[in-house]
Amino acid sequence: MRKPLIAGNWKMNKTIQEAVDFANEVKGLVPDRSKVDSIICAPALFLDRLLAAVDGYNVHIGAQTMHYEESGAFTGEISPAALEDLGVSYCIIGHSERRDMFNETDESVNKKTAAAFRHNIKPIICVGETLEQRERNETKGHVANQVSKALQGLTEEQVKQLIIAYEPIWAIGTGKSSTAEDANEVCGHIRQVVESSYSGSAAQSVKILYGGSVNPGNIDELMAKPEIDGALVGGASLDPHSFLRLLEAAA
Ligand code: PEP
Repeated sequence: MRKPLIAGNWKMNKTIQEAVDFANEVKGLVPDRSKVDSIICAPALFLDRLLAAVDGYNVHIGAQTMHYEESGAFTGEISPAALEDLGVSYCIIGHSERRDMFNETDESVNKKTAAAFRHNIKPIICVGETLEQRERNETKGHVANQVSKALQGLTEEQVKQLIIAYEPIWAIGTGKSSTAEDANEVCGHIRQVVESSYSGSAAQSVKILYGGSVNPGNIDELMAKPEIDGALVGGASLDPHSFLRLLEAAA
């Protein structure tokens, strides 16, 4: 059985004090770790303070991106070694906003995924189609291609620990969520891609999240679908009450 997972992606929101206040408000109310995992992917500057605030609670802290090199002349970037040193255990890789605005490619996603595993960081790999691709009926082919490229060179054991977030780009931050049926179908297709490249047991272990305008009003029907193991949530993860509601629905 795959444990459900709710990951918040705060993007470039909150101040450090607001972040710490959020952590202090939710940490004692998060459902038990036997039922659900919760992750907050916060701006890099907040990670240290958040890790201290949630220490011992069922709240994991993740980064929103990282570089794939160990160190070097990459002004402004954050190394996987530095994240590991801090105690960060998850990192979003290849979010569509980074692919679109910061030149993230399938190749860099693949390198970052491998680097994350070298540093004991679990990657949350984001894939998803544009509206035009959906209208041309290219969703499954595009997503399968992104997944295959991201996973190149990974071992079966690594794939078993992976988290893949299916995030249709047209649904991110728009209030227009995919239907639960469509999201389930694409998540199931991703699982088939993993099965054909690795094994049935890898496909049954990999966690596949849906992301795109998830909120307390649609989480129940999404979580009821067999291929959806949880959600990657932007806007609705910024409010403590709605974040907790999402966790309760997933637990
Ligand atoms: C996201 O940022 O990954 C996301 C899914 O955002 P939202 O929930 O706001 O659509």
